[in-house]
Amino acid sequence: VWERVRRRLRAEFGEDVFNSWFKSIEIDHAADDAVRLSVPTRFLKSWIDNHYRDRIIARWSEEAAQPIRIDMMVRSAVTNRVPLKPKAAPESVRPIIQSGARTPDQAPVINGHSDALGGSPLDPRLTFDSFVQGRSNTLARAAALQVAQSRTTDSVLFNPLYIHAGVGLGKTHLLQAIAGTAQAAGRRILYLTAEKFTFGFVASLKNQTAIAFKEALRNIDLLIIDDLQFLQGKQTQAEFCHTLNALIDAGRQVVVAGDRPPSDLENLDERVRSRLAGGLTVEIGGLDENLRLDILKQKLNQARAQHQGFDVPLAVLGYVAKHVTQNGRDLDGAFNRLLASNRLTNQPVTIEMAERSIRDLVRVAEPRRVKIEEIQKIVAQHYNVSRSDILSSRRTATVVRPRQIAMYLAKTMTLRSLPEIGRRFGGRDHTTVLHAVRKIEGLVGQDPALNEEVEVLKRRLND
Ligand code: ADP
Ligand code: MG
Repeated sequence: VWERVRRRLRAEFGEDVFNSWFKSIEIDHAADDAVRLSVPTRFLKSWIDNHYRDRIIARWSEEAAQPIRIDMMVRSAVTNRVPLKPKAAPESVRPIIQSGARTPDQAPVINGHSDALGGSPLDPRLTFDSFVQGRSNTLARAAALQVAQSRTTDSVLFNPLYIHAGVGLGKTHLLQAIAGTAQAAGRRILYLTAEKFTFGFVASLKNQTAIAFKEALRNIDLLIIDDLQFLQGKQTQAEFCHTLNALIDAGRQVVVAGDRPPSDLENLDERVRSRLAGGLTVEIGGLDENLRLDILKQKLNQARAQHQGFDVPLAVLGYVAKHVTQNGRDLDGAFNRLLASNRLTNQPVTIEMAERSIRDLVRVAEPRRVKIEEIQKIVAQHYNVSRSDILSSRRTATVVRPRQIAMYLAKTMTLRSLPEIGRRFGGRDHTTVLHAVRKIEGLVGQDPALNEEVEVLKRRLND
């Protein structure tokens, strides 16, 4: 089966990609519902795990006509093989502790304790080199770099380091950059999402391995916790607090990221919150247009190294940076679509292509909020009456029609309710407003001149 899967992957991804990632995969063990694949380096393992695992599973399932589970391992670990268990073990108890204290070719050291807790996977692309510096992240980046490079925690100031930012602004990128750097320097690190911490802790209670769980967490130099807002449960939070205290008191570094400042983490144990507040808190702000453009340029450089003949004109990058304004994930999405369009159609990337492929990511300009007072003013000006005429109870034809038009515009251009509009028009009843709205609606349909006038007024109000 593996041979056929390989052929499919080769056909699907092309010779280049195949040779870079799949060629060195060997099959180590296969059962009906599970396969163990081995690769020569940890880098390859994490890369394939992150990018191609699903594809391999899909291809395999097609060939073998039944779904399977895939375990990846680094080759030299194959010697102490353990039989595959028939059912998938929860990811949180997979025996991987991320540690830099070995050469990349060696398998993870599996000691008696580490199987209580596996780290979350690291993406090798998320490095300090690929993290673009801008106004909104200078401080966070500098603090992260400091923590990643210093072997000691003399600088109590940075312990714990807490980074917060909205979604897609680079928290995970920075944390993984810290993890990768420290790991490469031989420090024992553990990178975990708070969710996984929760899961691991709960599982350890169930399996009565809580002591091993605790020990695994104490035997490291650097603990990195992502998405703290997902740390759940009183007991888990208390355990997390013990961990924080134990590590910090032992002079080990802790780095945490969350989506809001510690003071706003309402569900968080007060002790954790104050422990976090005792370190350094830095915020990553929104990505301005310059930074967005720089990030896109950096993505282009990365992509060009991998995809022959791929290029994106600067004007197109500028267009994307200008219009995709939300966060880094949308920039990723936009960029990947340009790459996909180019690869699939073999057409050069143009602004038109960009426009088409990122339409849904472009933030639609929010309609300007129109105020009722403004409507009254503009309409009064247009018909050469005064605003107080419009608000008054006068019923002469010269003011009745403008008043009705103004009410109609108030109903169609604002979110105000009929009674609210009535109040703002000199204390009128909501049925009066409704009558006016219906009247103008009807007239606009029959009288092109009036329709035109209403359109002109709308345009003026929207300017
Ligand atoms: P968060 O964890 O804050 O939600 P991520 O770290 O996942 O955000 O960032 C989302 C995407 O944006 C990632 O692909 C990341 O690489 C990219 N990104 C965000 N900020 C930067 C930056 N300053 N330089 C390069 N890429 C960035
Ligand atoms: Mg994140």
